[in-house]
Amino acid sequence: MRSRPRSLAIGLAVAATAVAGTVTAGVHATPAQAATCNGYVGLTFDDGPSNSHTPALLNALTQNRLRATMFNEGQYAAAYPAQVRAQVQAGMWVGNHSYTHPHLTQLGQSQIDSEISRTQQAITNAGGGSPQLFRPPYGETNATVRSVEARYGLTEIIWNVDSQDWNNASTDAIVQAVNRLTNGQIILMHEWPANTLAAIPRIAQALANKGLCSGRISPQTGRAVAP
Ligand SMILES: [Zn+2]
Repeated sequence: MRSRPRSLAIGLAVAATAVAGTVTAGVHATPAQAATCNGYVGLTFDDGPSNSHTPALLNALTQNRLRATMFNEGQYAAAYPAQVRAQVQAGMWVGNHSYTHPHLTQLGQSQIDSEISRTQQAITNAGGGSPQLFRPPYGETNATVRSVEARYGLTEIIWNVDSQDWNNASTDAIVQAVNRLTNGQIILMHEWPANTLAAIPRIAQALANKGLCSGRISPQTGRAVAP
């Protein structure tokens, strides 16, 4: 829905400036889990939160012992603050995905600033903390976008693998996309497709088979690392 067909597998563009190293400690992995983590991948879910999709997604992730980064739209964080808090309470990380999901590269600097700053405020007000990560809608960025990100100490996170869940990918195809991830890499998914929700248990199994665990995304490197 919120992504249009475009070039895939854009590399990570990291616009890190003056990033504060304030990363909260995560949920402790069980010894069995820790022993199998030979690497970490970043699962990301865009375009939430919502009352209609967020609760089921969080249930599926926690039941399968997965953690993920939720790139929230500011307008929805403002509308559904309890879901932002639920994301944090479920052990997820919360990032900024603009306020209204525009094509930022078609906007001027002051409009871009408004999209980013209002989202920082909405997520903070909801109890999601002050995001350190920013994903521009559609993965579209330019020098002006990056300059505004820098003003807010945000690291720009695109993705290494596009699950194509926004483009009606099957559950099989989503799991296959996860299987292409290697250590440190990030996959684009969304909180709203039914096939994505259905894929969660199989995503967990696919990662376990490869000895990979779901990690947080480092604001310093833009790569997935241990929680
Ligand atoms: Zn989006």
